[in-house]
Amino acid sequence: MNSRSYDIAIIGGGIIGLATAMRLTQEHPDQRVAVIEKESVIAQHQTGHNSGVIHAGIYYAPGSQKANFCSTGGKLLRDFCDERGIEYEMCGKLIVAIDDSEVPGLEELHRRGTANGAEGLELIGPEELREHEPHVAGVKAIWSPNTGIIDFVRVSEAYSTEMRESGGDLITDAEVRAISTSNGDMRVETTAGDFSANNVINCAGLHADAVARMMGVDTGVRIVPFRGEYFSLKPESARLVNGLIYPVPDPSLPFLGVHFTKRINGSVEAGPNAVLALKREGYSKTSFDFGDAWGTLAYPGFWRMSMKFWKTGASEQYRSIVKSAFVKSLQTLVPEITGDDLHAPGAGVRAQAVDRSGALLQDFSIAETKGAIHVLNAPSPGATSSLSISRYIVDLAKESFGLGA
Ligand SMILES: Cc1cc2nc3c(=O)[nH]c(=O)nc-3n(C[C@H](O)[C@H](O)[C@H](O)COP(=O)(O)OP(=O)(O)OC[C@H]3O[C@@H](n4cnc5c(N)ncnc54)[C@H](O)[C@@H]3O)c2cc1C
Repeated sequence: MNSRSYDIAIIGGGIIGLATAMRLTQEHPDQRVAVIEKESVIAQHQTGHNSGVIHAGIYYAPGSQKANFCSTGGKLLRDFCDERGIEYEMCGKLIVAIDDSEVPGLEELHRRGTANGAEGLELIGPEELREHEPHVAGVKAIWSPNTGIIDFVRVSEAYSTEMRESGGDLITDAEVRAISTSNGDMRVETTAGDFSANNVINCAGLHADAVARMMGVDTGVRIVPFRGEYFSLKPESARLVNGLIYPVPDPSLPFLGVHFTKRINGSVEAGPNAVLALKREGYSKTSFDFGDAWGTLAYPGFWRMSMKFWKTGASEQYRSIVKSAFVKSLQTLVPEITGDDLHAPGAGVRAQAVDRSGALLQDFSIAETKGAIHVLNAPSPGATSSLSISRYIVDLAKESFGLGA
């Protein structure tokens, strides 16, 4: 057997590619499966830079894939971690209306969350709110006991180990540069040499649209990278936050607004905002890549999106540059916070698919083309939902690639 020949090549060793590879190798041991990853280790991008929250499924439109994948995915994830002794903590979460004008939006979220099957949601008043979080200001809140925290890199490592134990290969330091088809086989050219595959699953996150284009696929969307910048609270200030504290978000945007997130290592993060990144993997304010920046700026959908959201975009940019504006947003939730409580800035970059009309895709987007499946939009709660997304992809692959039962 040629060791560089596979039945299925999965491009991208983030949490979704690895969850898919694990399920494929376990359910279809006859298939030779490889995960091809450009970095030297897995989970370096969205998966390794996310907030580490196991979402309960509150925000999402009932019936959407986000709602469906998140509610089942959260349970599957916790069962997976229980069986393997992977640490997580169901610390609960508050979504806080800071004044009466936010109460209708909060109540709508409560209705949505309940319709989505998020367990144990309660609408609580200011007294109970301060029993959970004594330093938070607000008039009403949703208490979600079924929200938790976890290290998604640790989860991805477990998926990767089980995938390899079931016969799959992980090929690192292999950036996919081109994909061509001949005699029904796909030739995947990488920086670590060429591979052939009968089928490809594109889980390339921030580069998913570029990988699809390598296969000649017009996806109708472009990934626009949005950096989410945050600070950590100094250890002596972490006492201001017990768990997860979120604002009522703007329903027209797929982002949740700056919030406080307790991490599984006990630290607390404040943020993230959402600013346009001029590099797909641009983790600092000065990150710039000509090709990525040009790709975004030359895309008509980007300008249509900018026309719709220019006010929000401008205020996010301002908050990114002026720390006191960032602190002011945090003070709406925790008035005692000052700039002196913050240190250790960090960032993640979200892969946000934008269509030609300028709409930000709110839901997951997974498309099939001949011999391939493409994960084109996998925003939050993608990590929480990784096991249900992988189940969906493997079911698609059974049909689409003609895999046996
Ligand atoms: C700031 C932020 C906060 C978030 N918070 C949460 C949260 O709290 N809870 C939650 O459930 N979800 C959260 N999410 C969403 C979640 O992180 C993503 O849905 C999930 O990580 C997507 O996984 P992925 O495997 O699709 O992408 P990624 O993790 O980005 O993986 C894609 C992989 O593809 C590789 N790749 C790309 N191009 C190539 C190529 N040409 N050749 C080879 N390899 C390639 C990359 O190196 C990368 O490893 C958050 C996301 C961000 C950015």
